Amino acid sequence: MTPLLELNHVTYAYHSKSGETYALSDISFQVQEGEFIAVIGPSGCGKSTLLSLIAGLLTPEEGRILLNGSSPKTQKEKIGYMLQKDLLFEWRTVYRNVILGLEIQRRLTKETKENIEKMLKDYGLWRFRDARPSELSGGMRQRAALIRTLALNPRLLLLDEPFSALDFQTRLSVCDDVTGILRSQKKTAVLVTHDLSEAVSMADRVIVLSKRPAKIRKVLPLHFEQPDLTPFQRRSAPEFNDYFNLLWKELNDA
Ligand code: ADP
Ligand code: MG
Repeated sequence: MTPLLELNHVTYAYHSKSGETYALSDISFQVQEGEFIAVIGPSGCGKSTLLSLIAGLLTPEEGRILLNGSSPKTQKEKIGYMLQKDLLFEWRTVYRNVILGLEIQRRLTKETKENIEKMLKDYGLWRFRDARPSELSGGMRQRAALIRTLALNPRLLLLDEPFSALDFQTRLSVCDDVTGILRSQKKTAVLVTHDLSEAVSMADRVIVLSKRPAKIRKVLPLHFEQPDLTPFQRRSAPEFNDYFNLLWKELNDA
């Protein structure tokens, strides 16, 4: 099966007057359609750089990246990006925030509007469609940001520490929400996080990066005997601690 995303020997450094910062070194991996990949690594190792390369915002210095067989630079519309900051605009209502991407791309049609309305209803934001972002809880804001991203119907979702600004309890429930939404829509996703338990609770496979310049230290497929556990349920599954400890050791030897 052709992978949706393929990285072959990708290397990247930032060049500036004061010198070079080597961020990524010889990164190769593949992501199949429908897979949920978590990438973990120490702070500053190059995780966000990796996502910017996959999103086509940066160009590899060596190696190449293929999305569905061609460069991501020519198909940025197929990629959805979600960041730690939800980037909702206070001067727009929730509804007008979630339609923003479609509006910019001039893709606001009866069908795309219906899809948005359905998501707002399914994901508990319909009542708040006329509210301002500041009236929402942190978890609701992230759900609104996710709906805005999904409205563009991306083939690949890139999530850069999207929950790290939330308090622990909110983070647990937003993880469940987001994972449920992505699974129900069969979306392919790459989640970057420095939170090991988040990675183990959400992903199908975890990629462990070393310190900067990031190399791949380990790729760990996760198998839970009981299928379809929510991230919250995974946290109390028997396999959870073993995976957590394995990754903990791998990160701390990094
Ligand atoms: P992470 O997301 O894992 O914390 P980043 O990918 O943001 O790491 O950064 C990797 C390294 O590259 C860091 O040392 C960071 O300081 C450096 N870096 C990031 N962006 C730039 C930039 N625009 N110019 C120069 N150096 C950068
Ligand atoms: Mg980062």
